[in-house]
Amino acid sequence: MTIRVATLPDSVVEVPEIASLGIIGAGQMGNGIAHVAALAGLPVAMVDINPAALDKALGTIAKNMERQIGRRLITAEDRDAALGRITTSTDYASFGETDFVVEAATEKEAVKREVFKALCPHLKPTAMVASNTSSISITRLGASTDRPEKFIGMHFMNPVPVMKLVEIIRGIATDEPTFRAVDALAKKLGKQTAVAEDFPAFIVNRILVPMINEAVYALYEGVGDIRSIDTAMKLGANHPMGPLELADFIGLDTCLSIMQVLYDGLSDSKYRPCPLLVKYVEAGWYGRKTGKGFYDYSQDPPVPSR
Ligand code: NAD
Repeated sequence: MTIRVATLPDSVVEVPEIASLGIIGAGQMGNGIAHVAALAGLPVAMVDINPAALDKALGTIAKNMERQIGRRLITAEDRDAALGRITTSTDYASFGETDFVVEAATEKEAVKREVFKALCPHLKPTAMVASNTSSISITRLGASTDRPEKFIGMHFMNPVPVMKLVEIIRGIATDEPTFRAVDALAKKLGKQTAVAEDFPAFIVNRILVPMINEAVYALYEGVGDIRSIDTAMKLGANHPMGPLELADFIGLDTCLSIMQVLYDGLSDSKYRPCPLLVKYVEAGWYGRKTGKGFYDYSQDPPVPSR
């Protein structure tokens, strides 16, 4: 059962201000979060174990801001100021003065636990921590930190600069000031929030990823080929992207991890990951980020990879 305290008047809840942001993981989500936070005026410190990922992230942010300048959404001055607010490092010590750190590392519980273990000793006592996990229990991740009451789920959508939603997920121990502060931060970044309870994959991925898994089953069973499945859902259900194209965009490794969390967490065979999805991941065909998934991105326009 959930006790809702969101009706407490503002006067009885002191909401800490988030004036600086740390990000762990400089992949597609980490660079998107850095992009919107820096444009919103926040200093951003980004950490990744892989220095090449940090360089790539800075390049991607600059390229995506260039596109926004082309569309007259921001000016060249906005871009220059925003890029000047982003620093990168491979060392958690750079988060010493940071108010709030959001973790966007690989979707593996063991990886995230290791990250929090290494991170916490570097944080000031008042610092709040979030995970951008797509599916893993916020209560469990929070319990692996030294501050479960200041730990929360802040689930951005991909691509972060474009997508309007942030899901906010309280763990069982998350306190009201942390919830309010993170809700206010999401709004400062120009996002709308939806509050989800801490169940496997929350709201969006509980519904979306089983649909993607079903599309992979449709391919596996020969109901349709890659193009037919994507065209059918784009034109027949009015989806902006077909499910296999979308799977490539999210990352097939991430989709598989989410299905595994649903399967393990809800103990229901309807969430079993499709063996074909497993095979693509075993091949290292993760989708756009590795250049090949259901489609081969070495060609423009991309073609089905098999
Ligand atoms: P990604 O593979 O693009 O990036 C992950 C990054 O984490 C890599 O740069 C990797 O070097 C880094 N990393 C791995 N281990 C680390 C460690 N110990 N310390 C620091 N950095 C480490 O993945 P992504 O798509 O950006 O996903 C990141 C998180 O965001 C996952 O939890 C994922 O579920 C979630 N998410 C993804 C999407 C999506 O559509 N891809 C959407 C919402 C949320």
